[in-house]
Amino acid sequence: MPSKQMPPAHPFDDDKLHEECGIFGAVGVKDAANFVALGLHALQHRGQEAGGIVAHDPEQGFNNARRFGYVRDNFTSQKIMETLPGPLAIGHVRYSTAGTKGQTAIRDVQPFFGEFSMGGAAIAHNGNITNANALRRELIERGSIFQSSSDSECIIHLMARSLQRNIPERMEDALRRVEGAFSVVAMTRTKLIGVRDPLGVRPLVLGKVGDGWCLASETCALDIIGAEFLREIEPGEMVVITAERGVESHFPFRPQPSKFCIFEHVYFSRPDSILGGRSVYETREAIGRELAKESPVEADLVCPVPDSGTPAAIGYSLQSGIPYAMGIIRNQYMGRTFIEPTEQIRNMGVRLKLNVNRALIEGKRIILVDDSVVRGTTSRKIKEMILDAGAKEVHFRIASPPTAWPCFYGVDTPQRDKLLAATMTEEEMRDHLAVDSLKFISLDGLYRAVGEAKGRDKGCPQYCDACFSGEYPVQPADMLEQGFELKPAAE
Ligand code: SF4
Repeated sequence: MPSKQMPPAHPFDDDKLHEECGIFGAVGVKDAANFVALGLHALQHRGQEAGGIVAHDPEQGFNNARRFGYVRDNFTSQKIMETLPGPLAIGHVRYSTAGTKGQTAIRDVQPFFGEFSMGGAAIAHNGNITNANALRRELIERGSIFQSSSDSECIIHLMARSLQRNIPERMEDALRRVEGAFSVVAMTRTKLIGVRDPLGVRPLVLGKVGDGWCLASETCALDIIGAEFLREIEPGEMVVITAERGVESHFPFRPQPSKFCIFEHVYFSRPDSILGGRSVYETREAIGRELAKESPVEADLVCPVPDSGTPAAIGYSLQSGIPYAMGIIRNQYMGRTFIEPTEQIRNMGVRLKLNVNRALIEGKRIILVDDSVVRGTTSRKIKEMILDAGAKEVHFRIASPPTAWPCFYGVDTPQRDKLLAATMTEEEMRDHLAVDSLKFISLDGLYRAVGEAKGRDKGCPQYCDACFSGEYPVQPADMLEQGFELKPAAE
């Protein structure tokens, strides 16, 4: 039975794409769940709705705790953490994935657990299975009883049906049936397992902590526990880690050119994380520089839309020579205080989160740098606030190309007709936002900024950029079945 229902995790921030999950696992350390809780805390930006931890102790077996809300509000309690003993644990933070968006039941909160003839296993998944509906139908017809509405549960049922003799091999079997994007951390009684899908759409990194090991969505989660960042898990790689034998690596899938999510560089990952050997902050600054080269404009100040627009705004300022200033200040303590706001508070909208620094803005020509425009509702409100504060001109510069297509690989995106760029040209968007100018970085410019000097169409490694280009590296089978129309070949 569904338990407590949660309101949307971003009541004032529904004009952004949201990463839907963060995952973390640790083995070979005392009280591994404590490390997992800290790791998940560092990954909270990837999902704020709910979190869960499963731990294994040789004497007490498997234990789990799943809760709604922030990690810091749940997994800092001694009462909860004492129930999660043992040297091996995995965890998950969640926005809402392919379950019921904004109406998550506790049964949808990961990690999921399954008891097999050779012992138990728990699994936490970041990404989205694009053929989950078909798999679910097939599994139900063959007798599987699902406990949740999550696409990720298919993996547990596919593992249960596999004839392989151990859990890592059953997991390989299961994941070969799965299409889409998946980074997975899983555990048995003795093993920590990490897998990335063959395209490597979502991130996963390996770290060393004391005598133990850990896996995390991003390197910022290694930093918080003092772990050493060893390397990224390769696309298509499975690592099986035990305290005694360390890391064993193999590649169970047919090799394919990688398609890492380019939006991780633009927005999802934390700026202090390392992706592709470079800090996300540096990449975002490079995006700002490219944007300034592609779309210069005369102005007095470059201001970020905080916080995610900040590194790109600094890059734009450095490249253009136009001074950088904090023209908009973020209220850092918004949190979940108003998670169930009244209508009156809701109408205040973006003002609750952002405030204009009037003394800086008045009488100036302002370049506002933001990471993306999704529905355009927040951009419009910010522009109004800037004009109310007496700005002479407002020029928007956007650190990603127009977001014109939904993501089906683990990112919460509005339907296509709700995306501003799907229904309007750039000029129409400028009119709609009523700004003096609006420019997006080009897709080639973005590729240059992330270090792909060869450009978009010339060799590997390349990226998934489907939300900009409409070119999906994996057919979104479930969505096609529901009537979603792909971009015509000639468009
Ligand atoms: S569609 Fe966009 S957000 Fe989704 S994986 Fe591809 S680049 Fe990332």
